Amino acid sequence: MSVQKEKQTVFDSKSKDLLQECIHCGFCLPACPTYTLNGNEADSPRGRLYLMDALSHGRLDTSESLVRHLDLCLVCRACETACPSGVEFGSLMEVVKEGLLPTREKRHPALTFLETSVTSHERLSGLMKVGRLYQKTGLHWLTTHTFLRHLVPAAMRSGNESLPTIPKKRFGKDKTQLFSARNEKRGTVALFTGCVMDHLFPHVHEATVRILTWNGFDVIVPGKQSCCGALHAHSGDIATADRLSNEQLQLFGEFETDSIIVNSAGCGAQLKEYDRFASADDEALETATKVRDLTEFLASIELRPPEANLEMQIVYDDPCHLLHAQGISTEPREIISRIPGVTLLSLPESDQCCGSAGSYSLTESKMSKAILDRKMEHISAAGADAIITANPGCQIQLAWGVRGNGLNFEVLHIAELLDKSYRLNPDYAAL
Ligand code: SF4
Ligand code: SF4
Repeated sequence: MSVQKEKQTVFDSKSKDLLQECIHCGFCLPACPTYTLNGNEADSPRGRLYLMDALSHGRLDTSESLVRHLDLCLVCRACETACPSGVEFGSLMEVVKEGLLPTREKRHPALTFLETSVTSHERLSGLMKVGRLYQKTGLHWLTTHTFLRHLVPAAMRSGNESLPTIPKKRFGKDKTQLFSARNEKRGTVALFTGCVMDHLFPHVHEATVRILTWNGFDVIVPGKQSCCGALHAHSGDIATADRLSNEQLQLFGEFETDSIIVNSAGCGAQLKEYDRFASADDEALETATKVRDLTEFLASIELRPPEANLEMQIVYDDPCHLLHAQGISTEPREIISRIPGVTLLSLPESDQCCGSAGSYSLTESKMSKAILDRKMEHISAAGADAIITANPGCQIQLAWGVRGNGLNFEVLHIAELLDKSYRLNPDYAAL
């Protein structure tokens, strides 16, 4: 992506202070997927912080090569988990990406396409219709399995190849839906359905509702939900991210609930961290305190035990925005451990990104694919029947990795795994 050469300061004073917290120890280097792959210090967290610091003090210009090193960052935040000094790398990257936005001569077309689509369910529904037709007529197969793939513009090729089978209907509706608790009522929760997740993974939302109602919760699914703004924050459009998060939190604030359940790690992190926006308002901040990842919520209640054996060997791959942004790692594993017959196998580097990272798989497809290939090597060697994750972007990316490597196992959201086990109970299956 090209940039105009001009000197500028993209950091405010708070961010400059945060930059000073780096003590250059290098503990973060082995945690960084880009540094792990290419060994380039400028593509490591410490190197990027050095570049940001030089940029913030005017020692370096926004040259094309500097921006490349920053763009190549997945913002997976694995470096935050590894850092003993508490450097808030994700926030710093948001600030620098926002600062760089006006200097970019052009944006990646896939990014513009995605960001424009996700803010409107009408637009998304229209796209899904076209996409279904594209898949039903076999055109999608032809452009992914034959020489016709070269006719797809290079910028859209990875998006085309990773496109999952598009379901007929999204889960969310314009009208608010209420699903009543089965068994003794224990509380009321609301479900965040989001944008892409709602259209591509409605079955995960359905499974989530079944699990929650089976466990005694009324589930409210507010109508007119939209995107949380995570994709926009990722690319530096902070104003839009702030507005979208605020709109969602205002909407959920209208309902009396104990918790707001999110089953997409990226959206959960975005909504929980709403307080990072300078213009955050009190009402939305209050609502944000109720946001819980599905696994976090299920681990906090006395989960009705699934009784039937699944007899599966699985690996769990941590979504970065669950592990590194929300600090959630034991909860999903605890839920998995309660499912009879399921053996959780060890997966090396399960704490490293799969290369999806929001829009990264579209804008930085070469590095994204290299990271995915490394992940698939580990997964293949583990000998599992299924990969479990908890984020739609990871599901799409991992499923692409499975197809691309001719492997034969499922990629499931953790809600689908738990639902599979519960469904072996005829009373649950009747829900
Ligand atoms: S956010 Fe991820 S890719 Fe970026 S520097 Fe940190 S560990 Fe590396
Ligand atoms: S671990 Fe933290 S303090 Fe050490 S080099 Fe990385 S960012 Fe800096």
